[in-house]
Amino acid sequence: MYIKTTTSIRLHQRKSKLDNIHNYKRRHTVYHFACDECGQQFMREASKVPQHRASNTFNHVCSDCDVHRFAQKTGVKMRRIYKIDASSTKVKL
Ligand SMILES: [Zn+2]
Repeated sequence: MYIKTTTSIRLHQRKSKLDNIHNYKRRHTVYHFACDECGQQFMREASKVPQHRASNTFNHVCSDCDVHRFAQKTGVKMRRIYKIDASSTKVKL
C-alpha cells in the first residue's frame, strides 16, 4: 500500500584539488509503502521505482517477505474473481 512521498537529504564530502574538504548535500525523493503481506512500513527511493507504481492500484511487498509467494496468493484470488479455471485435471475439448 502506498502511504506518502517525502524527501531525504544525504550529506557527502569531497576533497578538492587543494585538499580542502567540501561538504555537499543531495536531496532524494522517497516513497513510503506498507507491505501488503506483513503490514510493515518500508521506504524505496523514487529513482528506483517507476512513478506510476506509487499508487494503490499496485501491491507492494517489503524485502523481508517473499514476493513470489505473495503473487501466487494474489493470482488465486484474482482467478476466483474473474472465474478463470487454472485446474490441470479438467479436460477442455
Ligand atoms: Zn512484508
